[in-house]
Amino acid sequence: MPESLPYSLAMFAAAALQLGLAAVALRRRDVSGARAFAALTLASALYSAGYAMELGSMDLERILFWNHVEHFGIAFLPAFWAIYSVQVVGGRIPRTGVLILLGMSTISLVLVLTDSLHGQGHVAPRLRPDAPFPVLDFDRGTAYWFPVLYSNAVLLFGNVRLAMAMRRVPAPWRARYALLAAGSVLPWAGLLLYVSGSVPWGLDLTALSLAVATPLFAWGMFHLGMLDLVPVARDRVFEGMRDAVLVVDHLGRVLDFNPAARRVFPVLSARILGRPLADSGLPRVVVDGMTGPDDGEVDLELPGPQESRVFRGNVSSINAPGGSHAVRILTLVDVTAMASVLGELRTQAHTDLLTGTLSRRRFQEVLEIEISRSRRHGHSLSLLMMDLDHFKSVNDTFGHDAGDRVLMAVADSCREVIRGSDALGRLGGEEFAVLLPETGPMGARVAAERLRQRIEAQRVTTSDGSVIQVTVSIGVASADPAEPAELAALLDAADRGLYRAKQSGRNRVGRIDEPAPEPLITGF
Ligand code: GH3
Ligand code: MG
Ligand code: MG
Repeated sequence: MPESLPYSLAMFAAAALQLGLAAVALRRRDVSGARAFAALTLASALYSAGYAMELGSMDLERILFWNHVEHFGIAFLPAFWAIYSVQVVGGRIPRTGVLILLGMSTISLVLVLTDSLHGQGHVAPRLRPDAPFPVLDFDRGTAYWFPVLYSNAVLLFGNVRLAMAMRRVPAPWRARYALLAAGSVLPWAGLLLYVSGSVPWGLDLTALSLAVATPLFAWGMFHLGMLDLVPVARDRVFEGMRDAVLVVDHLGRVLDFNPAARRVFPVLSARILGRPLADSGLPRVVVDGMTGPDDGEVDLELPGPQESRVFRGNVSSINAPGGSHAVRILTLVDVTAMASVLGELRTQAHTDLLTGTLSRRRFQEVLEIEISRSRRHGHSLSLLMMDLDHFKSVNDTFGHDAGDRVLMAVADSCREVIRGSDALGRLGGEEFAVLLPETGPMGARVAAERLRQRIEAQRVTTSDGSVIQVTVSIGVASADPAEPAELAALLDAADRGLYRAKQSGRNRVGRIDEPAPEPLITGF
């Protein structure tokens, strides 16, 4: 039994483990980084198996043969590790970067395979005199250092990059980055030990350390669900979504955003990643909505080239797998079209179609708002209730269409007389109402009288040349700041004032709170 058998068996076991990991990764190759990981473990498997065979070989020729075989794996390890370490945290290596890495690996391999031609790599290969079994020994030529430097540079680049990225990601992801960095340190140490010649008999421990490191990677990748969260969501859903999505961490730092979000907020750029949302220049309402104590809704209107755009946003917290801190996600949906339809509907509901005045419902809403405002500020407020006199006979004489035109003319006359802050509503039929904010009984009577006169002076000419004149009776009610009125009481008082105006002969202004006319004193 060759004395190298235990070492060979360990290397075969390492190769088998790597093959198993490659199979797992290939089954889950939809996860970004998984393909690079499979390539990494396959290269490791080739390395381990080749080294197992090298250790079991008894003569220099076979040893060199297997040494060349294992370099097909060794040469590509740095490239696959670099690609994997970038992809595993959701990044992407540009195609030229991948080509450069594969090119460097190919050069490494060619340098080893053409050793006998240039004699600058493994110089003067021979067997070690001190080892208990045949182990390759050689002098190190210039070409030997190329793959060594290349591997170290890639490992250094990858770890520095991870360390920089780690500072910008939330805690749950930081642990996985650390796992990745720790995993890469093992083979790095193996490589340095081998190169420095510190291992007895010149044995290479790199393949063994890879067998420890790659399961760590696999654990971080599949068990902790790191990739399930980041790249799959990014690649498949996130990037292609029509709705804008913005993600912040628990400290309010920007973690991610999709192209749709960049279209809504052009200030979003890669430079903002990892920086506080508050410094991003995004609208205050977005910053507050995403960094406030609670999840909720965010309504946003942004000026556009032609019309402004309206967005409805939803902020929700999502627990990152394995993490204690939640990330906050804002989804913004463009509701401009819906908002304009709603606005149109609201305008219709607020407006009387025939006369363009406020509808009955809207007038009552405005009245309610004004009553509470007058109460708050201690202002007075007055209400005029108007009903056209004998309007039935206008319809009967001139027809309903002519009656409609009179109603429109009355509304126009009212608008000419009242102030901008007053509100005019059509309560129904030929009944109108005017709200006079900050107006007491005296001012209200003056306004009512002016309206009455204006309508009396108005003439409407029908299509057949007839001229229509109408008059109006007006009831006046006022809310005193010292004695604030309720909506119903004010309406009722104005109504009774109107009744009194009708009773006293029409075409006049009536108040319910005026002293009743003195009774006539007749005879003694
Ligand atoms: P009064 O002086 O007592 O108010 O007499 P009046 O004829 O105005 O009586 P009343 O208020 O009861 O009649 C309202 C009339 O207004 C009945 C209806 O023919 C007319 N009217 C109501 N709505 C409309 C409308 O939208 N268009 C037209 N043309 N007429 C309407
Ligand atoms: Mg009426
Ligand atoms: Mg009437």
